[in-house]
Amino acid sequence: MEKPRIIWANVIFFVVSTLLALVAVPLWGVFHGFSAGQWIAFAVLFCFCNLSITAGYHRLWSHKTYQAHPALRWLFALGGALAIENSVVHWASDHRIHHRHVDNDEVDPYSAGRGFWYSHMGWMMREYQAERYNDYANVRDLFKDPVVDFQHRHYMKLVWGLNLGLTIALGLMMGDVIGTVLLAGFLRIFVTHHTTFFINSLAHIWGRNSFSNKHSAKDNGLLALLTFGEGYHNFHHTFENDYRNGIRWFDYDPTKWLIKAASKLGLAQGLRKTPDELIVKARLTRQLEEAKEQAQAQGLCFAELHRHYDETLATAQHYFQLRKRWLQMKKAKLKRSVEALELRKQIEEMGEKLRHLQLHWQQLRTQIA
Ligand SMILES: [Zn+2]
Ligand SMILES: [Zn+2]
Repeated sequence: MEKPRIIWANVIFFVVSTLLALVAVPLWGVFHGFSAGQWIAFAVLFCFCNLSITAGYHRLWSHKTYQAHPALRWLFALGGALAIENSVVHWASDHRIHHRHVDNDEVDPYSAGRGFWYSHMGWMMREYQAERYNDYANVRDLFKDPVVDFQHRHYMKLVWGLNLGLTIALGLMMGDVIGTVLLAGFLRIFVTHHTTFFINSLAHIWGRNSFSNKHSAKDNGLLALLTFGEGYHNFHHTFENDYRNGIRWFDYDPTKWLIKAASKLGLAQGLRKTPDELIVKARLTRQLEEAKEQAQAQGLCFAELHRHYDETLATAQHYFQLRKRWLQMKKAKLKRSVEALELRKQIEEMGEKLRHLQLHWQQLRTQIA
């Protein structure tokens, strides 16, 4: 079959920005040097761009995991244009198709099944999506947001205005326009691009299927460090309506912390979380599947595994039900009532039992592995 036509504008842009980032930036650094101020400008704009994509384009607009104040939406819309990753509607349209048809090589716009290069950048180099390029039927809801509508209509002006305007203005302030445009402009675009592109490529190739193996998305803590928390991609594809990607408090997910902080400041609300019992069930079921595969390979019996799985799951569900009741009582200002005190005792006992069962479950899995 004939390959679709090359999109020369994209190819030239990627080649030029890559050469400037990888050749011109080091040369300027060696022969001219960069100041601390220029490195700070680079870091601030990098974080601004990436968080606009992760907290704005991705978790706010594509998945609607929370609602944001207009001030925050403007910031994300401007940061997204600065990142040069297309308008919110175009990005979200592609992304919603990616989730709906994940791993379907014909429909998923950046299907990992077509290889690392294709899912990382190749999909943008040719007219693979030509027939639906301006079809925004799956993001009609987003046009109701005047910020999104404005950004879509003026996208190219914003890209040029922000990228040139900001970096030149910063360069004038720091007395080195060329160096600042190279560092806070081209190197920042290069790093922003690849760290977000990794989510479509590496995050579907490298890591663990912690919650589901029905899709190729992987959980990878190392990748989370580079992607502002988006490396917990297996969880994300399993529970896409959750505003978090790294769910344990210590999971490195700055995007979730930003959204949580914004909610404390009254800039975000309606943060959606997956019920704990569903998360625990998905994780335990996945662990059971893995353990069964290993047991099968060694010719061992599954009965013990199944018994433990059933008991741990039932205990976890009971524990979360009790906790839910306790929270309701707390909300109703009844936490000092006799019933509430009794409930607290039960929660402590059930929590202890659950910890014990989980430890045993872990030992059982280690024995088989
Ligand atoms: Zn997503
Ligand atoms: Zn994905």
